[in-house]
Amino acid sequence: MIRLNDILERAGEFHPLSESDVNLISKSYVYSAKVHAGQKRSSGEPYLSHPLEVSLILANLGLDSCTIATGLLHDTVEDTLATSGDIKNMFGDEVSFLVDGATKVSKLSYSSDAERQSENFRKLILATAKDIRIVLIKLADRLHNMRTLDFLPPERRRKISKETMDIYAPLARRLGIGWLTSELEDLAFKFLNPREHAKIEEKLKSGRERRRRKMEEVKAKLEKHLLNDGIKSDVSGRVKSLYSIYGKMKWQNTEFNELHDIIAFRVLTESEEDCYISLGKIHSLWKPVPGRIKDYITLPKNNGYQSIHTTVMSSDGDRMEVQIRTRRMHEFAENGIAAHWHYKRGETGEDSEIQRHFSKIGELAEHGDAMRPAGFMQSLKAELESSVIYVYTPKAELIELPVGSTPIDFAYRIHTNIGDGCSAAVVNRTSVPLDRRLRTGDMVEVVVSEDARPSENWLSFVVTPKAKNSIRKNLAGMRRERSLDIGRSICERRFASTGRNLSSMIASGQLKKPLAKLGFSDPGDFFRMVGFGRVSVTSLQELIDPDSGIGPEKMGRIEKILDKVKDPESTKMVLVGNETVMTRFSTCCLPVPGEQIVGHTTRGSGVVVHSASCDMRPDDINNETVVDVEWRKGLKEKTATGLSLTCKDRQEVFSAIAETITSLGAEIARDETGSFGEGKKYNLFVKVKDITQLEEIMDSLSMLEGVVSVERCGRIFE
Ligand code: MN
Repeated sequence: MIRLNDILERAGEFHPLSESDVNLISKSYVYSAKVHAGQKRSSGEPYLSHPLEVSLILANLGLDSCTIATGLLHDTVEDTLATSGDIKNMFGDEVSFLVDGATKVSKLSYSSDAERQSENFRKLILATAKDIRIVLIKLADRLHNMRTLDFLPPERRRKISKETMDIYAPLARRLGIGWLTSELEDLAFKFLNPREHAKIEEKLKSGRERRRRKMEEVKAKLEKHLLNDGIKSDVSGRVKSLYSIYGKMKWQNTEFNELHDIIAFRVLTESEEDCYISLGKIHSLWKPVPGRIKDYITLPKNNGYQSIHTTVMSSDGDRMEVQIRTRRMHEFAENGIAAHWHYKRGETGEDSEIQRHFSKIGELAEHGDAMRPAGFMQSLKAELESSVIYVYTPKAELIELPVGSTPIDFAYRIHTNIGDGCSAAVVNRTSVPLDRRLRTGDMVEVVVSEDARPSENWLSFVVTPKAKNSIRKNLAGMRRERSLDIGRSICERRFASTGRNLSSMIASGQLKKPLAKLGFSDPGDFFRMVGFGRVSVTSLQELIDPDSGIGPEKMGRIEKILDKVKDPESTKMVLVGNETVMTRFSTCCLPVPGEQIVGHTTRGSGVVVHSASCDMRPDDINNETVVDVEWRKGLKEKTATGLSLTCKDRQEVFSAIAETITSLGAEIARDETGSFGEGKKYNLFVKVKDITQLEEIMDSLSMLEGVVSVERCGRIFE
């Protein structure tokens, strides 16, 4: 079994340990030994051997004393009587934070049948861990468990190996830790496919001596030639990993015997320039295989990996892959993010300082460095400080949602009908309000009931475009239905007051002609427009019975209302543009100050103001409802109106659109029905000073690259 001293020694090689570092690690060791006392691993060994091994792996990665201590303590809260509070009291906030994080990640359950979910599950681990050190602790934990997997029953072996292959090896790769990635892959491969593994292992044995000689030959030859050119290099040969050989066989659909590139060489140089000189030298010594040169120095992989790869033909006709990189690039290729950590540490020498850097990976990114391409840290940071959350369905499927999502967003993500019918929500088996903000790891169920309907109020808390659009669409549908009911009953009452029966007139077809004259082919459309307040019943009544229009005494009420809002100086004019009860803007055209407008009197809504060019405004046929209106002078408040944009790709142009609008002094009205459609066409609501400003905005927007067209739009008919 590993001793405490092995860990302390190893840790000290990377960075001299202070007295408090030694105390922390020693105390963790003593505590772990105490609480795990009597427990055994499946191998029969004392349980303590596991935390010791994990801790040593972390020390080997050159991590800080808190992480190494956590390696010793990582299973205490989960598997012993120790509590999170105990850990906090004894070892402080930082260690307790790391232990809690590791415990949380252990509790995440991955069902291996959901293979397509593995990507999400990896992100879930990152989002749960929050601190990259917790991910490293889980990787070390997993590595030791894989190394000792032989002792578990076959079923467990398979499950754990599958998880390792799907989740942990890719995570290690994501963090750029090369050796860990291949070891996890090779171990998982061994348990998942023991027969293939054994077959390749057997085959490799047979040519071992020949390969060893060849590797030495190549190494000597290459080092000598490079030195002649003044390049100091380390050349090493190795047999590729079993799993990568297996991958090649599957990929190329070949048998082992036909595989020609089983050995690979690595050339480590002092400088980047030497890498390129070495490449030239190698190509002059052996014939390169066309199409196999990859320059990851100029274009690093997204986990930061840098190297030049080439494949050449050796004298005996075998292919050899050669990787060329600097020593520093090599350390990053092997230890990935951990190397980053330990370089930083060496440079500043201040532990607390570094710990802050490391736990807040964002700062690492900001303090940028020439060692790694910035993209690596940036994208890792984005994954850790994720703007998305991951929640489970009752069937343990992982769903990705933006931060701030509610059960309603979840419901609409599953299906529009589930969203529309959502009546209650249960999170982690507890009833919650529909506006509860979900958190990563929540298990969410929604109750769907047949007579549930979306409510206007939902728009105030949902965050996903899908939910917003669906709710709006549904509300608009309901409004249309309601308008139909209202309009129909208005018409019925008005007809009844003149002794006519609306239903029988419809049935007999008597209304067909007059309705057609008004531009309606269907009575329902007419009722709907009446309900919306866009058309008055009078227009129809007059066509049926010219004398039955509203008499002067009935008109009186509207006149009285108009009096209240009329400009005292001009007797005819109604002034528009402040919050008077009796004027409102039509939602079909959303006119803005400075533009030609027309007012229409309606029952119940006072004066509705349309843009003069609005297609939706009532026909002038019943021009007795037309009222002269004019914009009030010196309006201070901006007015909201709608723009409908067609873009090539709205994600890309959106920031340019927003910038254009604000730079011209207007604003995007987010509180309005800011419906960002999901396709290429979408509506945007802006608040502008007047028509001049609006036209300026429309001109500028239509000139943006990626914007196909810009039109005005209203709110109802989205
Ligand atoms: Mn463990």
